[in-house]
Amino acid sequence: MKCPNCGVEAAAGATDCPACGVIFAKFKKKLESLTLPPPTEFNPWIGRGIAAAIVVLWMIAFGVYYRRAVSEMPVRNPAGPFRRR
Ligand SMILES: [Zn+2]
Repeated sequence: MKCPNCGVEAAAGATDCPACGVIFAKFKKKLESLTLPPPTEFNPWIGRGIAAAIVVLWMIAFGVYYRRAVSEMPVRNPAGPFRRR
């Protein structure tokens, strides 16, 4: 097999490289830990989902508030403050 660190051809059953002395199993693990994303990595889709949910909730809240404000306006003040009687 070929050494993943220096590229020197090592014996088939060798566990370490005769040229640079790297231990293949250890090196492989190190490479995997470097290439694989850590399990706690932030998923950008979760952030997008939260952002979308906040926008949707805000729109619903605003829609409810706006409807209430519009429907209450003529009831509270039907013909202006001076024509109350
Ligand atoms: Zn090597």
